[in-house]
Amino acid sequence: MIPYSCQSIDEGDIEAVIAVLRSDWLTQGPAVPSFEAALGAVVNARHTLAVSSGTAGLHLACLALGIEQGDSVWTSPLSFVASANCARLCGATVDFVDAEPETGLISISALEQKLDDNLAGDTSPKALIVTHYAGHSADMSRIAQLAKNHGFKVIEDAAHALGACYDSKPVGECEFSDLAVFSFHPLKHITTGEGGCICTNSTELARRIERLRSHGITRVAAEMDTIPDGDWFYQQIELGLNYRMSDIQAALGHSQLERLPAFLTRRRQLADRYQRLLGNTELRTLPASEGAAWHLFPILVEPARRKEVFDHLRRSGIGVNVHYLPIHLHPDYRKLGFAVNDFPGAEHYYARTISLPLHPRLTDSDQDFVVTRLKEVLS
Ligand SMILES: *Cc1c(COP(=O)(O)O)cnc(C)c1O
Repeated sequence: MIPYSCQSIDEGDIEAVIAVLRSDWLTQGPAVPSFEAALGAVVNARHTLAVSSGTAGLHLACLALGIEQGDSVWTSPLSFVASANCARLCGATVDFVDAEPETGLISISALEQKLDDNLAGDTSPKALIVTHYAGHSADMSRIAQLAKNHGFKVIEDAAHALGACYDSKPVGECEFSDLAVFSFHPLKHITTGEGGCICTNSTELARRIERLRSHGITRVAAEMDTIPDGDWFYQQIELGLNYRMSDIQAALGHSQLERLPAFLTRRRQLADRYQRLLGNTELRTLPASEGAAWHLFPILVEPARRKEVFDHLRRSGIGVNVHYLPIHLHPDYRKLGFAVNDFPGAEHYYARTISLPLHPRLTDSDQDFVVTRLKEVLS
């Protein structure tokens, strides 16, 4: 089976992990801050905090913004469930802004419309969570302008977008957002097994996240309500979690990060090659965008033929996939009142999409095989 995505682990990665296993620290040692510094240099964020998963990062981002019961958080339905679950985990209400049916990205016109419709009401969002679908950045300057005018916070779900650029600047620099969250799941651009990180330029948010990822505990005297009893002393000053990354994971991530440029180049080459090889077919692909970090390579086929094309590719040993069943159509969201036709752009995208294999280990001949089998079923 040619998988749609998979990790690429080399001997250097293995050595890096072994070195930590032989060291004094498996967690809370030097590997985490050193990985954080390296990540920060890549995405150009003032603060980068490693966490136990992308989902943990999204949850902490919401907690750090003070999202709680009574708040409304908006996101696009065309994303992984974690983009919406994080707000529900804080007790907030989730609502959706429709996606563009041709790109899968959040629709700016739908966002403007929804904000206008809400002006009279009291359900304006406290935060908007924006997914850079398939590694293509959403239109962040428009979103930042709307955030300023309407007074909401912006969290980038950048799980697909490590190494992507928007307006020639790295995603994660947070020029147009409060926080950006990356994932290091094995299917993403670099991996730590499970893991993720949060980027922000706010020292206050960063400090809060640092505490919240470790039980809400502080060892900083200035944050305590008494003078410390001694050097052993710490206090829990708010309710937190254990969302820390281990040194084993950080060592793997740091080693992987050194190969990020090569991973990105290969992904871009493969995406360009797909565009060229599929150019003379009826298929639609995502528009080539300069700063894209090509996490997925989705194609769009007629809804009536999607299953047939998908099944043919799977029977050929090609691990195609579909990203995503719109979040509002999962049973756990329908029971909140969401229904079919609520977000027609996302639903129309979903009805047509298939993600073709795209990862750094995919060879040209693997790709030729995918294209041949695809053209076979289309003709
Ligand atoms: C992978 C992913 C996440 C969750 O990341 P984990 O590290 O698996 O928890 C969140 N959002 C999107 C869009 C993702 O693709």
